[in-house]
Amino acid sequence: MASRAEFRVSVTKDNIVFASAHFITFPGHRCETLHGHNYRTRVVLEGDLDPEAHYVFDFVELKHLMKRLTDEIDHKVLLPLDNPKLKIVKQGESVSVAYEGKPRYVFPTGDCALLPVPNTTVEMLARYLAGRVRAELAASDAVRLSTIEIEIEENFGQSATYRESLK
Ligand SMILES: [Zn+2]
Repeated sequence: MASRAEFRVSVTKDNIVFASAHFITFPGHRCETLHGHNYRTRVVLEGDLDPEAHYVFDFVELKHLMKRLTDEIDHKVLLPLDNPKLKIVKQGESVSVAYEGKPRYVFPTGDCALLPVPNTTVEMLARYLAGRVRAELAASDAVRLSTIEIEIEENFGQSATYRESLK
């Protein structure tokens, strides 16, 4: 019987972090006030080895990718475009946010990261980042990878992990 072996690499570094503001909406009629977290990320890739390099994926490339993706949302207000309770309208230099029809915030456009997620929970942020990583890896011919996993921690000991099979 043939055995199946895979390798797993992970990266978590002090510079693949993002310090951002957010608020989440809860079931019913509750919406958090704006606040911030120092989010930390971990990326895990699983798959077969590159036959020449004998690695799953180049650590340098993976660190650069994660740094670039986390820099995009660092020092921003994270806003969920797909939240049915929020109306987020970008008009020139400002972004207005209404919750259940009532005006709530106006932010400078450059300070916002408008994300295709239904809520800015760590679960949804992890899935968003995994999607971005998947798209980048697809373009870089990383065909031997089988799984992407992203963990996002918003406080010590408080994190969510999203895991996606690529096959
Ligand atoms: Zn929070």
